[in-house]
Amino acid sequence: MRAMLLDAPGRPLREAEIALRAPGPGEITIDVRACAVCRTDLHVVDGELAHPKLPLVIGHEIVGIVSELGSPGAGSERFAPGARVGVPWLGWTCGACAFCASGRENLCAEAEFTGYTRDGGYAESAIVDARYAFALPDALDDLHAAPLLCAGLIGYRSLRFCGDARRLGIYGFGAAAHLVAQVARWQGREVYAFTRAGDASAQAFARELGATWAGASDETPPVPLDAAIVFAPVGALVPRALAAVERGGVVVCGGIHMSDVPSFPYELLWGERSVRSVANLTRADAEEFLALAAQVPVVTEIEPFALAQANEALDRLRRGEVRGAAVLAIGA
Ligand SMILES: [Zn+2]
Ligand SMILES: [Zn+2]
Repeated sequence: MRAMLLDAPGRPLREAEIALRAPGPGEITIDVRACAVCRTDLHVVDGELAHPKLPLVIGHEIVGIVSELGSPGAGSERFAPGARVGVPWLGWTCGACAFCASGRENLCAEAEFTGYTRDGGYAESAIVDARYAFALPDALDDLHAAPLLCAGLIGYRSLRFCGDARRLGIYGFGAAAHLVAQVARWQGREVYAFTRAGDASAQAFARELGATWAGASDETPPVPLDAAIVFAPVGALVPRALAAVERGGVVVCGGIHMSDVPSFPYELLWGERSVRSVANLTRADAEEFLALAAQVPVVTEIEPFALAQANEALDRLRRGEVRGAAVLAIGA
């Protein structure tokens, strides 16, 4: 099969023809139709996340059609050949540790991740554990469904940690933000969108999606916020977001990697404000969000690329030039 391979961090992906093994017990083989491009892919390629599998097929927002099942009895039969499935970042967990046993499999120390410790979806085929794959809302085609699988899921987990905050700030208006904003509006919240200074198109995009206000990340919003989510990988935004939230408010960091958070006066945290991160996702998050996405319904804005253009898609994401989500159209 054709794949875009990461040989080592810091190098562009290389188009290669690689052999496809048979699926093992509990696994399914998928003909990949689409794979969305996530900022985490950039962190892996740029060497900001330690110890990726190498060489590696990155990509963890996969939509595909099941083509082959592993030997029966271990869970492969969760899907029939021909079924459409989505595959997210969480690829496997131990099922036995204290985290797994308490509904927090996202924190399992043995967890494996699609497109990081396991091969992912920047390829014509992928082999995944069937227990970590999901049915997708029928209303969305393959390309438009792909961004739900990380931007949507992690965005939704971040939003949940904002509790019942009515005035919600979102720092960084990319793939996750454009989906979270729709859910937040549907829930009756007000959205305040913060972008890079001068990014008029991202601010206009946020307003189109119902944001009450959109401005630069160093601006003070017109009203104090009840909570804020920081999707941009910029640690300096954490104290800025704290300064924008009301007493008792939370700042949720939604990304897997961020530049250092600068020191800041305790006064910004005082008043029972809190800062927390969101790590990975659970399968329960996926079931819950995918059902909600169909109900809202969440509409994804995408920019399609061919598989061979993966490096270009990553570069455009790095430069902040993608409106909504970049998606590789593979078999789709
Ligand atoms: Zn575990
Ligand atoms: Zn992701």
